[in-house]
This record gives sequence, C-alpha cells and structure tokens, in this order.
Amino acid sequence: MNRPIPVTKNDYIDVVFEDLTHDGAGVAKVEGYPLFVPNGLPGEKAKIKVIKTGKGYGFGRLIELYEKSPYRVDIASSERHKYGGTQLEHISYEGQLKYKENQVRQVLTRIGKLEDVIVHPILGMDHPWHYRNKAQVPVGEKDGKLIAGFFKPRSHEIVDTNESLIQLPEINEAVQIVKEIASELGISAYHEESHKGVLRHIMARFGQQTGELMVVIITRTADLPQKDKLVEEIVARLPKVKSIVHNVNSKRTNVILGEKTKVLWGNEVIYDYIGDVKFAISALSFYQVNPVQTKVLYEKALEYADLSGEEKVIDAYCGIGTISLFLAQKARKVFGVEVVPEAIEDAKRNAALNGIENAEFAAGEAEVVIPKWYKEGNAADVLVVDPPRKGCDEALLQTIIEMKPKKVVYVSCNPATLARDLRILEDGGYKTVEVQPVDMFPQTTHVECVSQIVLREN
Ligand code: SAH
Repeated sequence: MNRPIPVTKNDYIDVVFEDLTHDGAGVAKVEGYPLFVPNGLPGEKAKIKVIKTGKGYGFGRLIELYEKSPYRVDIASSERHKYGGTQLEHISYEGQLKYKENQVRQVLTRIGKLEDVIVHPILGMDHPWHYRNKAQVPVGEKDGKLIAGFFKPRSHEIVDTNESLIQLPEINEAVQIVKEIASELGISAYHEESHKGVLRHIMARFGQQTGELMVVIITRTADLPQKDKLVEEIVARLPKVKSIVHNVNSKRTNVILGEKTKVLWGNEVIYDYIGDVKFAISALSFYQVNPVQTKVLYEKALEYADLSGEEKVIDAYCGIGTISLFLAQKARKVFGVEVVPEAIEDAKRNAALNGIENAEFAAGEAEVVIPKWYKEGNAADVLVVDPPRKGCDEALLQTIIEMKPKKVVYVSCNPATLARDLRILEDGGYKTVEVQPVDMFPQTTHVECVSQIVLREN
C-alpha cells in the first residue's frame, strides 16, 4: 500500500537532519519520508523548503540553520564543494571520521545483522588534504583561452579551476602548466557537442615515493599540433616529468582514455612504492590514488591474513597485484585473479620487477576461475577479496563456504555490500571477528574497510 506523501512542493518546514546521503546531502525524515537537503548535517535543526517530491523520497533546500553541528566548518559555498568531488569539505576532519565510522557500525548491524563484531576506530590521515596522485581534467575554451577543471553536473560546461583540495600539489601544478603551454601554442580544445577540436583531457600521475611525474595528453585527433614544442616546454617547465604520453580518443564518448597510446618523451611508465613493493604505472594501468592510506590498508590486510609462511593464498579481484605482492612476502604461494587481462599483465610485470617468484596470476572472473580451481583440487588456506562496489558474486561466496579456507580477509569500498556478504559467510559457517575502517578518501563520502573472517570450529 502506498502511504501518502506527508509534504508538498514549496512547503516550508522545520526538520532535524539524521544522516548524510552518498553525495553528502543531509537526510531529514518527515513521518518516515526522507528528504535530501544539500548542506544539512546530522544533528542540525533547520528550516527547509521542499523542492521536489517523489514516491519514496523528496528533495529540499536549506533556508535557515537554527542549530549548527559542532563539526560544521565554514567554507565559501563553491562549485568545487558542490560538484568537484569534495562533498564533505564543510565537515571538520574529526566529524568526517566520526560519521564514516558510525556509518560502518550502523550498516553492519542493520544489513549484516552482525551484533558482536568489533569495529575499530577508523584510521584517518594526519594531513587529510592533497593526497590524490592522479587527475584527469577535461579541457575547454573560454574567451580564446584554454580552461580546465571539472564539468558541472548534467552539462557540458567546465569550471576552470586548479584548486583541488585533494590532489597532490604536483598534480595541480602539472595540469595548470600543461594547460598554459597548450593555450600559448594555440592548441584547440575539444568541443563535446560538435565533436570538433583537439585537446580533450590532461592527465597527470605522480609517484609520491619516487618523485616521478607522468603527463598524458588526450586528444581527439591522431595528429597533435605543435607536438615538439609542447614536449619541449613541458620538460622545461615541469622538472619532475619522467614520461610524456599521447593518448588518442577519437570517439564520441565520456570515457576519458582511448585505445591508442604513444610515448612522446621519456619512459613508458613511472614508478612508485607501496611499502617495499615497487610498481610500474603506465598511462592506462589502475593504481591506488592514495598510496599513503593504501599502505595502511594493506598492512591491516596482511595482519588479518596472519600468515606463517606456509599458506596458499588466493587474492580474488587482484587488479595489478598490489595486495597479492604484499601477501607474497609472507605466504608460500599467492594466486591472483582479475577480470581485466591488461591488469594481469601489469601484475606479472610487477612481480618480476620485485623479484617475487611465489605469485601467479590468472585473468578471468573470480566467480568462474576460483570454483574451477576448487574442483581441480586447488584450495586456499587464506582467501582475500577486494571486490568493486557491488560486492562479491554469490557464486564466489558459495565456493568459499565449500572450500572452507581458515581465514577470509575482505577489503571493501562499500559497507552495504560488505555487510550483505558477511551475513552470507556467517550463515555458511564463518565468523566476522573484526572490521577496520580506513579513510582512503578524506573530504569525500567514501569509506574503505578491511575485515577478518574466520571459519568457526565445529
Ligand atoms: N585489489 C586491487 C584492485 C581492487 S579494485 C587493489 O587493491 O589495487 C577491484 C578489482 O576487481 C578491479 O581491478 C576490477 O577490474 C576487478 N573485478 C571486477 N569484477 C571482477 C570479477 N567478477 N572477477 C575478478 N575481478 C573483477
């Protein structure tokens, strides 16, 4: 039965915010009906105007704050805050950590029905700003000059800014300087609607441990006008650059990178370290964007795997082998599985780069490859999963339950699917011992967790 909607468009009402949405908007409830209101914080009392009502939820605008959250920090209302990927900029870091930790606890109880699991205090950053080691910035044109920044949502309009609060200064600087050089050389910007023009995106990656910078120029046309001059100026003005790459994306698409990549200057890859493990990063490869916290996360994963050196470990969803290579230092053998074949090639290369010989990698879906291995008599003592937001495939969870590894380490970027999957493992004979939230993405709503799950003895 549909309940009547308790508010009407254009109503002014008083509310108390209870929660935050995934976009960082405040959630207020009127007779159980949720209203999403940008800029409202949990605990705050406010007057809002109802802007839109739908069947299950509605939207409002903040009109007046009667009582402020102690965690609110005053910031200028900016497009960067609204659309630039720092949705929690208006909350003190202490408040952000508290919110994320609570969210993990609540979801584990509500969705996972996990009552007695230990949730540790979240591990945050000492300096929660300027941590991202990569940016891919769209380029446009205004008043005869190039601009670069981020798209306004649902529009082709670019906000010209290099003031990202979460990118490393080296990244902000690289994008700014490449934009200036391209502008000076008269290189045209790509225009989405007409599919004309040249320069689509500027991408920069930085190896924080090695100080190596990569610049990727992404164009619609295979021809890059003023190429030699562009390279010469980048090398002169960005002394940390070790690799300049040209990527061609001639399609009408909002996917950033195209298939054709050519090195214009320097190396094909830059290097970086997570802990003692060295990684080669090419223009197209996946690499964690916050290596400082990645190390914290992986050290926890390694601690939870509790390896003696005798174990056979499977790392499902292994990407370029980051966790696998970390684990290989302490395990007898590690098998990594990953659906993207190029990532598996990177993983093999990274194993060789570190002289790691006890790690093997296979391309394929975890839920297909691991059941096949199990049928062939290849079981693991410890299984690590690090799935995308949608969580583990049910078939993989069932295989884990049959295979009975002593321990499962679950790395998750989505507490809701983590809770769902932990419930399935609990019902299949496992116990979730502890969960450690880690703040990999300060100023955003994302939260990462690593959990230790053990086989019950009975
Ligand atoms: N563990 C890695 C990558 C985690 S991201 C790291 O820490 O860097 C999740 C990975 O799972 C991605 O690389 C994605 O390509 C991969 N993936 C997604 N679906 C998959 C599936 N069904 N089977 C195996 N890998 C999958």
